[in-house]
Amino acid sequence: MNFKYVVVGAGLAGLTMAERIATELNEKVLVIEKRNHIGGNIYDSYNEDGILIHNYGPHIFHTNDRGVYQYLSKFTKWNDFWHRVLTYVDGNLVPMPITVETINKLYNLNLDCSRVDEFLRHQSVEISEIKTSKDVALSKVGQDIYEKIFESYTKKQWGIDPADLDTSVISRIPIRLNRDTRYFSDKYQGMPTHGYTKMCEKMVANKNIKILLNTDYKEVMNDLTYDKLIYTGQTDEFYHHKHGKLSYRSINFAFETFDKEDYQEAPVVNYPNDYDYTRITEFKKLTWQENKKTTICKEFPCDEGEPYYPFPTKECKEQFEHYEEEMKRENKVIFLGRLAEYRYYNMDAVVRRALDTFSDIVAGLK
Ligand code: FAD
Ligand code: UDP
Repeated sequence: MNFKYVVVGAGLAGLTMAERIATELNEKVLVIEKRNHIGGNIYDSYNEDGILIHNYGPHIFHTNDRGVYQYLSKFTKWNDFWHRVLTYVDGNLVPMPITVETINKLYNLNLDCSRVDEFLRHQSVEISEIKTSKDVALSKVGQDIYEKIFESYTKKQWGIDPADLDTSVISRIPIRLNRDTRYFSDKYQGMPTHGYTKMCEKMVANKNIKILLNTDYKEVMNDLTYDKLIYTGQTDEFYHHKHGKLSYRSINFAFETFDKEDYQEAPVVNYPNDYDYTRITEFKKLTWQENKKTTICKEFPCDEGEPYYPFPTKECKEQFEHYEEEMKRENKVIFLGRLAEYRYYNMDAVVRRALDTFSDIVAGLK
């Protein structure tokens, strides 16, 4: 069978590419997906109690990229949800990321914004060259807050010490010298009103798009011819692990439903120092769904399982560079997304990458 465009993976990267090709170029696209659903890790579904859950962990959309927001808004409306996180430290729930209120609660103080700045400067450790996530935290908040909030959480999440992790990991968390307790400060934030799966379904509601579920691309590739293959799966798999297996961190998601309307004080509560899980999400607090029951999800990070997080260490990056050399030599294959590019992308970054890649394809056709 001949398709001009074949996409491997029906995650956000693959679906954005398929939608653009089908709509803008009016070309037929085949999307091959090994799971039994579209959406990749942003897939959500209703559980037996009718509560909308995120099957692969909590996903909150946030971006400063107007183009990405406008693009996705063609397929969904959004609620005005602003994410908030509390973290459980020394028996108290304090706001995350660190704000004036976090410092005051942790140390039983009543400092204003400028005094918190002074407090943190006093605590912070001077580090001449910031090379790791531990350096990032110590240089911003000092040893005590590092131990209370970052050290154990990060060890649980990644299974290794923050001193062995790239700076990008803890740098994701801002330190705020104000009273803004929102988890993200991006201009556009929210949850798709009818969920991510519905949004994805609208993206691919185009007769030019054919989707083959429950199929590993390797099973069908010999029967296909194409001009361009857009590959969003694991790159090491694509090259039969010739430069070794890339490391990923996985998570076991444990869902529980309670016969009460309300479970916890915030949509997400982090547990840096207690329990084996990192955090608990209560879905109704993200989606604003009404239901007499409530469903939560505990996250237990682990090594084996679905490859959710590319491993952000120097060694893993160096290993991936061998694959990058191979990728550069391909002229019919485009590698895109969190797995294929081995990057810790958020949803908005993945959509941006796909939109830009599509523009490159169009430019190449002229
Ligand atoms: P994926 O969603 O992984 O899609 C890849 C698809 O390819 C999958 O469906 C897979 O089954 C398929 N595939 C792989 N190999 C094959 C094969 N051999 N044959 C056929 N199909 C194959 N981002 C945010 O912006 N906000 C958040 O709050 C947020 N929370 C997150 C929480 C968790 C726990 C995780 C893991 C990620 C989170 N993200 C969040 C990131 C977000 O999930 C990603 O940015 C996005 O899903 C990446 O899309 P993708 O298409 O690149 O990858
Ligand atoms: N982190 C932490 N304590 C927290 C929250 C986060 O140490 O309470 C660290 C941890 O290493 C995590 C990283 O900051 O992997 C990024 O956190 P984020 O919430 O962005 O992670 P995500 O769930 O989006 O991957």
